[in-house]
Amino acid sequence: MRPEERFDCVVIGAGVQGSFTAYQLAQQNRNTLLLEQFVLPHSRGSSHGQTRIIRKAYSEDFYVDMMEESYKLWAQLEKEAGVQLYRQTGLLVMGPEKSDGYLKVKTTLQRNKVPAVVLTPDNFNQHIPNLRLAEGDGALVEITAGVLYADRVLRTVQTQFEKLGGVLRDNEEVTDIKPGPCVTVCTSAGVYVANSVVITAGPWTNALLAHTGLQLPLEVVKINVCYWKEKVSGTYHVKKRFPCFIQTEGEETKEHIYGLPSNEYPGLVKICYHMGSRTDPDQRDRQTERTDIDILRRFVARCMPGLIPEPAVVESCMYTLTPDHNFVLDCHPTYNNIIIGAGFSGHGFKFGPVVGKLLCELSLGEVPSFDLSPFRIRRFQTNTKSAL
Ligand SMILES: Cc1cc2nc3c(=O)[nH]c(=O)nc-3n(C[C@H](O)[C@H](O)[C@H](O)COP(=O)(O)OP(=O)(O)OC[C@H]3O[C@@H](n4cnc5c(N)ncnc54)[C@H](O)[C@@H]3O)c2cc1C
Repeated sequence: MRPEERFDCVVIGAGVQGSFTAYQLAQQNRNTLLLEQFVLPHSRGSSHGQTRIIRKAYSEDFYVDMMEESYKLWAQLEKEAGVQLYRQTGLLVMGPEKSDGYLKVKTTLQRNKVPAVVLTPDNFNQHIPNLRLAEGDGALVEITAGVLYADRVLRTVQTQFEKLGGVLRDNEEVTDIKPGPCVTVCTSAGVYVANSVVITAGPWTNALLAHTGLQLPLEVVKINVCYWKEKVSGTYHVKKRFPCFIQTEGEETKEHIYGLPSNEYPGLVKICYHMGSRTDPDQRDRQTERTDIDILRRFVARCMPGLIPEPAVVESCMYTLTPDHNFVLDCHPTYNNIIIGAGFSGHGFKFGPVVGKLLCELSLGEVPSFDLSPFRIRRFQTNTKSAL
């Protein structure tokens, strides 16, 4: 055991959100400790893997506004570190033309003047070969969307954090949090005292919050991350300008299906269903439900004629869902020096830099740069009193 150490801030969890929060705090010259339970890098949370989609295609204006800032911060980090983290591919959005989901995204993009091109059934295949637009579906391409190189992002932001003097300790599990004017954090290897603590523990958030008397209505689900083999290698490659895509809804899907051009594994295209099966994060690999893969198989057979409709590789990842799928970015209701960033509901990666900035502002007691009302804990109280 090391002797007790003091920090301005301790950040718990070195996924994308904790890493960006720690980096922002170090940029503000705060003496910051970032703790991670597993040896880094690891593939047991939500931030691993090589790619994520970055987009402004949302139904809500507040996400579009936050993405405006996020894109700027991604570019700043790329410049500062001299590393490419983003590649523009465009994002194809498809969905029943008159459906709520598709129409809301389309009108939100138009209202916010996000560069996008609407495709028609007649010109669709000229722009997007090897993909079949379903009968009655509308389609548009959001131009500036693309791919983030996720693993590289984590490495880069953690390196920049350490260059700024931040302390990163992995293989060190937080076992207790003792609230107070200064917060005490106990780990498997030491005890730390800090003016504030930020909890960014992904699927383990409620396990940590239990030490502070709070439980949030979070549901952890396992996602089968499926890669599909091209019949002719290169058909859907990023260099052939095949875009990322989202099928907003369809005959048999409650949630959207999304895909990325082949990139990380030669000849394999990542296509997933945005819904999983409930799991305990420590028992993830015992969850063997595969109905999502059946849905994907049928989608691939129907819409992607250049792919073999059987996944060639299946990996695992987890989402931490809130009831409304909006994030939690807030102070603890009882202890305002404990800050919570959680419930990223399977769409938080692209917001990493702006989430880091907001959690940093909350932990320093500053006015946050964005209106955080969609992300406040009190929104759950009317519906889910028992969970709080
Ligand atoms: C398959 C898949 C595809 C996705 N696609 C996209 C996409 O295209 N675009 C997008 O924007 N988002 C996407 N997301 C969502 C995005 O990846 C997540 O929202 C984001 O990674 C959540 O990050 P996090 O830091 O909150 O959680 P995590 O990455 O899980 O990090 C939490 C960390 O806390 C650590 N921890 C927990 N408890 C303790 C403890 N007691 N002590 C110390 N450390 C602890 C964990 O080990 C973990 O490393 C996707 C997610 C998945 C699973």
